[in-house]
Amino acid sequence: MSAVKARLGNVRLVRLSASRPELVPSGVHHRSMANGRVRCLFCYEDSGDNLVASSEHLLSRPVAAAFGIDRRSSVARVDGDVEEIRWMQLNGIKRRCVCTRCNNGWMNRLEHSMAGIATWISGPIGEPIGAARALDLRNWALKTHMLLCFIEGNAGRFGEDTFTGEYVVPPVTPAKALYKGDHNALAHCVVGVTRSTSRTDFAWSFGTPSVTAPGGVKGHPRFAPVSIVTVGSLQLWVVVPLLPARVTMPAGVQVCRAGLRPDELARTGHPMNLGLVRVDFE
Ligand SMILES: [Zn+2]
Repeated sequence: MSAVKARLGNVRLVRLSASRPELVPSGVHHRSMANGRVRCLFCYEDSGDNLVASSEHLLSRPVAAAFGIDRRSSVARVDGDVEEIRWMQLNGIKRRCVCTRCNNGWMNRLEHSMAGIATWISGPIGEPIGAARALDLRNWALKTHMLLCFIEGNAGRFGEDTFTGEYVVPPVTPAKALYKGDHNALAHCVVGVTRSTSRTDFAWSFGTPSVTAPGGVKGHPRFAPVSIVTVGSLQLWVVVPLLPARVTMPAGVQVCRAGLRPDELARTGHPMNLGLVRVDFE
């Protein structure tokens, strides 16, 4: 990729093991974070000398096992702008942006908690997810979105003088809040849940929604990136605005909450269209 011509708002859809891939172009390649001594995205100043030393996988081994996904499967990564398709193994999609202590500690517990989510979504249709599982799912979705900000959104290149491509603002404050368990600071972040009815095992789309600033004028989307992540039959819509905002999700996408039941999730497939999300900054 030289300069990125397409906007981050385009959809990237990656589909596993598909005989007829439905690949939607995106204008973004992933890039490595800048080299050098980098602090952990999540614990940051608490990390002391415990700097970034660990790669966080987009799809971890525990989550793949819980949802029956083969991490050795090939995924197609598409850049429609240069008509380039690259194939790589799913377990190779990761980013070095966390410290070992976080990766092996709270993040590892979060990955293992997703087994409870797999049980819930494939279980009795009238069973509420419950407060503990709803929090696990919300936290996993937020963590995954923050990782995608680096893998797809060039967040690690923020502030680089020589970088001319599109980027999203690194989610530093919400990442720290997630690490601290400060749920009030994350209250304006939205995690929506619906059911994927496609045969896709694992897919994601990352980009920017339509954004308005106070007064109804067009706002800058790099402050409110969106991720849509499909894991088995579970589909998550995640928005992390960096300022308080009103978020509008497409019809049928339910807010992740303790009372959520599988029978409330959509029965028909949703297009993974980032443009269906709207963010109004207040
Ligand atoms: Zn850390």
